[in-house]
Amino acid sequence: MFEKILIANRGEIALRIQRACRELGIRTVVVHSEADTEAKYVKLADESVCIGPAPAAASYLNIPAIISAAEVTDAEAIHPGYGFLSENADFAEKVQGSGFVFIGPRPENIRLMGDKVSAKQAMMKAGVPVVPGSEGPLPEAGAEIVKIARRIGYPVIIKAAGGGGGRGMRVVHTEAALVNAVNLTRREALAAFSNPTVYLEKYLENPRHIEIQVLADEHRNAVYLGERDCSMQRRHQKVLEEAPAPELPQKLREKIGERCAEACRRIGYRGAGTFEFLCEDGEFYFIEMNTRVQVEHPVTEMVTGIDIVLQQILIAAGEKLPFRQKDIVLRGHAIECRINAEDPYRFTPSPGKITSYHPPGGPGIRVDSHVYSGYTVPPYYDSMVGKVIAHGASRDQAIRRMRTALSEMVVEGIQTNIPLHLDLLHDNRFISGGTSIHYLEQKLADRQQKPK
Ligand code: ADP
Repeated sequence: MFEKILIANRGEIALRIQRACRELGIRTVVVHSEADTEAKYVKLADESVCIGPAPAAASYLNIPAIISAAEVTDAEAIHPGYGFLSENADFAEKVQGSGFVFIGPRPENIRLMGDKVSAKQAMMKAGVPVVPGSEGPLPEAGAEIVKIARRIGYPVIIKAAGGGGGRGMRVVHTEAALVNAVNLTRREALAAFSNPTVYLEKYLENPRHIEIQVLADEHRNAVYLGERDCSMQRRHQKVLEEAPAPELPQKLREKIGERCAEACRRIGYRGAGTFEFLCEDGEFYFIEMNTRVQVEHPVTEMVTGIDIVLQQILIAAGEKLPFRQKDIVLRGHAIECRINAEDPYRFTPSPGKITSYHPPGGPGIRVDSHVYSGYTVPPYYDSMVGKVIAHGASRDQAIRRMRTALSEMVVEGIQTNIPLHLDLLHDNRFISGGTSIHYLEQKLADRQQKPK
């Protein structure tokens, strides 16, 4: 086992990884920017190294600075968390090339899945169903693009092969708008992801977002840990997630889960990963794979009792998975609310000093957060300040526990989206379960139109 791990991330996930390391008796090094010097997890770590000024490009994305920090502190492995460099194949390669273990998949697997076009092609080969669309990148010629879209049928969605974080997508409803929209998306993709490749997909009108969590080891063992429903989204960004997905038949879960595990074995995947699907009328359509731990991993941990971050570390150390598929049992229901520092209905970021902070507690409640009373939320990064997770024997109990938890929770000095979550937790459609990815946007639009 490793003696020392360097954590190349910030915020709640830096603390989460640190907790897993402690449990395993591993010492930790945290790298941080000048803006995060006062963060609790920086002080809790065995060692910390400041790697640059606040802007992420100069610190959390600064590969030479991170590798030097690992060298001077004698760390053996690097955990990238999520976001930042976690899905950067060049980083994974440089980490390995410098003699450290990258806690994640092989660089070639990250590269394969990081390009959504090659990922889709690999999944088709492995027998995983994908969203109907262009078989590969779109050609240059407008007439060809029009032909492809006619075959798929409108509406279509143009997606950047290198896109992520809900960016680099554009829906097109009519042929007249198609070619211009493709060119615009190409330009945006080039600017944002340094890759102008785009492809077309059928735009599904009423799908749910359901994703399968997998774990795979070096020895070609792979299991799926059930699914999560992440349909509650705003601007393609997840707001609230749950496990299992309401009303998903066990047979379907097994079928799609087994396909994902099999795809891992085929490509020699290693580590934690998530296969994301859109699900409509009982059919699953693959959209992309995330080759890292995800923000919403705790809901799966709550229903399976498996610590995903700890498993990532064990896998990176070369160990075999300690369980088989038949050992994985889903118990009860879990919901996660992402707590963001933002106006709950206008969504403008609300960084600043938290003057008072009281996290909730009680049966089935878990809070993953790095903040405390007196902590200042810096304006430079993602607005998420923590996650509240509620577990119950049933979905209904999880919802009730979450309502109680969020009504107890105090975060003063900044605005948070807790009121929006409470609103959702009392929403009849959410309570019934199984809403589509457009539900939240629709609800927000209706709210705006209502006279105050
Ligand atoms: P990202 O990597 O930016 O997260 P994804 O491919 O995972 O992009 O898509 C993010 C979200 O965009 C999905 O959860 C869904 O809400 C929406 N989306 C993506 N593809 C489609 C599609 N073909 N039809 C309808 N919505 C889609």
